[in-house]
Amino acid sequence: MYAEVIVDIAHTAVDRRFTYRIPEELPVSVGHHVLVPFGQGDHKKEGFVVALKSSADYPEIKDVSRIIERYPVLLPDQIALAEWMKDAYHCLFVDALRLMIPAQMRGMRVREKKVRTVMLAGGVDPEAVSEALKNAPAQKRVFELVAKLGAEASLPDINAFYPGSTAAVKALIRKGFLTEQSETVFRRPEKIRLHAPNHTLTDAQTHAADAIRSAVARAEGDVLLLHGVTGSGKTEVYLRAIEDCLSLGKQAIVLVPEISLTPQTVGRFTDRFGDRIAVLHSRLSPGERFDEWRRIRLGLADIVIGARSAVFAPVERLGLIIIDEEHESSYQSETQPRYLAGEIAARRVKNTGGALVLGSATPSLMSYARALSGKYELLTLPDRVAGRPLPTVEVVNMRDELLMGNNSIFSDKLTERMSECLAAGQQAMLFINRRGYATFVSCRSCGYVLKCDNCDISMTYHKTESRTRCHYCGAVKPLPKECPNCKKPFIKQFGIGTEQVEEAVHTLFPAVRTLRMDTDTMREKGSYEKLLSAFHRREAQVLIGTQMIAKGHDFPNVTLVGVVAADTTLNLPDYRAPERTFQLLTQVAGRAGRDNLPGRVVLQTYEPNHPIIRFAKAQDYPGFFHYEIAARKKMLYPPFSLFLRIVFADRDERTAERACLEYAKALESALRAALGEEGRLDLLLLVAAEAPVARISGYTRYQILIKLLRTKRLKDALETVSVFHDAHRDACAEVQLEINPQEMF
Ligand code: ADP
Ligand code: ZN
Repeated sequence: MYAEVIVDIAHTAVDRRFTYRIPEELPVSVGHHVLVPFGQGDHKKEGFVVALKSSADYPEIKDVSRIIERYPVLLPDQIALAEWMKDAYHCLFVDALRLMIPAQMRGMRVREKKVRTVMLAGGVDPEAVSEALKNAPAQKRVFELVAKLGAEASLPDINAFYPGSTAAVKALIRKGFLTEQSETVFRRPEKIRLHAPNHTLTDAQTHAADAIRSAVARAEGDVLLLHGVTGSGKTEVYLRAIEDCLSLGKQAIVLVPEISLTPQTVGRFTDRFGDRIAVLHSRLSPGERFDEWRRIRLGLADIVIGARSAVFAPVERLGLIIIDEEHESSYQSETQPRYLAGEIAARRVKNTGGALVLGSATPSLMSYARALSGKYELLTLPDRVAGRPLPTVEVVNMRDELLMGNNSIFSDKLTERMSECLAAGQQAMLFINRRGYATFVSCRSCGYVLKCDNCDISMTYHKTESRTRCHYCGAVKPLPKECPNCKKPFIKQFGIGTEQVEEAVHTLFPAVRTLRMDTDTMREKGSYEKLLSAFHRREAQVLIGTQMIAKGHDFPNVTLVGVVAADTTLNLPDYRAPERTFQLLTQVAGRAGRDNLPGRVVLQTYEPNHPIIRFAKAQDYPGFFHYEIAARKKMLYPPFSLFLRIVFADRDERTAERACLEYAKALESALRAALGEEGRLDLLLLVAAEAPVARISGYTRYQILIKLLRTKRLKDALETVSVFHDAHRDACAEVQLEINPQEMF
């Protein structure tokens, strides 16, 4: 027999199957992680067996050297998935395969943990042995301890009772009174069990859970979109769906955004399913990750809960994947291959026969469009549970505040609501969105926002150049001295930080304790959980934060949510800015009044009449959807077109620029040729310019942004780009093709 092996070297030149002979004595099967002799000098390299075959095409075949883990580390479905990813994401086969196993398994940097235990040897009479040991008191008491336990005892346990007993244990083994065995243990992340009451489902919840159950039973790879308002009990539906899935003899994966993967979230699942749960996220130690992964691989866990990359978990009888908060942009990988977890999940359930559930209070435009067109099954939870109302939303026009002479961060309305909330002993959350690299320019007097004439996208202020730039087409405009609309001098770059907000709270309410959560205060491991639980315990009355505080947290005592500046997200230089804003505003508003106290939301903005703000106030998702899809159609943004981006990075500035410009020119001709006369208008945009983040760790970055109309010729166009790209990957140090990028930086 022969094995086809993908050698674990990330290089285009060797990213193909190599054939090795399987020696008689080696039980190699598909999915095994092996060592093989490779290249000149036959150095041993790691590799993955992706197929077996009975004959080889040429006679000089080397042998597989050895198997690394006893069991195959890759499932057939994962190998098929990686092969698909290779084409879909223009990545190396080996890069896709690497996603399927814990990183530290490569290079054998993590090992199974073994604990040595001792127990009474078979056939010994405890009383006789005790008597025989009366002149060796240390051995005697250890022996009696083990005898009394009547079970295996580990050396650390024995030493905890009687410090310094190691020598005594050894002597007892030597004398044949105790026998020794070594046992594999699994390092587990700290588990918290939250008591999660088993609610009787509402009719809407029952209907949704039943639909999911049928889809799991059908096993046809169906996708279901669960659209439930905040606090409608989606998690409860997931729990029921998982129970049903297990009772059908299958297993499940639950993805949540990394940021929501808190002990609170995991605790709700652990309370219901106990040790059948495995957790995968970036805060695990390498040993914990390896062991959780092995518990899944070896079938000791049936439910995986984790962040984005858990979509690759080695679940053998996959019946259900749930993606909570499916609209979150964190479901796109930030490193190559830049996969979308949702896309991978859909592929996996299609290959293996299962169901995919996408859940959200604010589904992505794409998913909702698919649900309306019948591609996905739409499930709706229209109301909060237990008759709780949605929070009341008040919109404040910050332009009026300025006219009235209030140029502080808080409007009179927000100040008033804060005093009421604090006086009643309740808690408030203040939300501000800020992302370092994107600063737009607007007029504080009339609300005018400086936009690109070609793209209808906010211009971004570049401090170093003190001028503004369009991130889509590269157009440049100077920073105006006065507002082009109202001629007043109040036009400037916009940005309020969380620190400023915190100071303003302290000035207004000196006695009030605050907590601040942003990327600066969250650097340390565990700080996120610490802050959240401090707020839970009501150690502070006001929590101030960036989008981190918007997600999925359940604080029963929070009755007020203040959005300090709704405009920051509305004017991000991204065609998805309106969608992101609606999602964020709805999610933050959803934090208010989740228990029995009614909630209030104050939303401060310079554009109170902006349709997105109006839909957010009404918490009207369908209204938002129809408005925004029409706007996308008008500007020919996705889903009516498709964006491609090619990023060029090199340590040498000139090299990156030249590579980008030359590539762009040649690719444009190739595309024009492929599209022909008939498709002349399909290429909506192709520009080469500096990337939004022009420099990252010593690398200069350029990008080509391409916008293609979605027509029947799109497939040909993509094929052309793909072939061209494969032939020009070496244009500079890094050349990366991204299809429909979620975040551009
Ligand atoms: P979502 O995920 O949709 O925001 P959750 O699942 O967190 O909502 O539910 C919100 C709250 O309502 C939770 O505290 C949950 O325990 C409670 N809940 C869920 N379903 C029910 C139900 N059928 N009856 C009573 N309370 C429920
Ligand atoms: Zn532009």
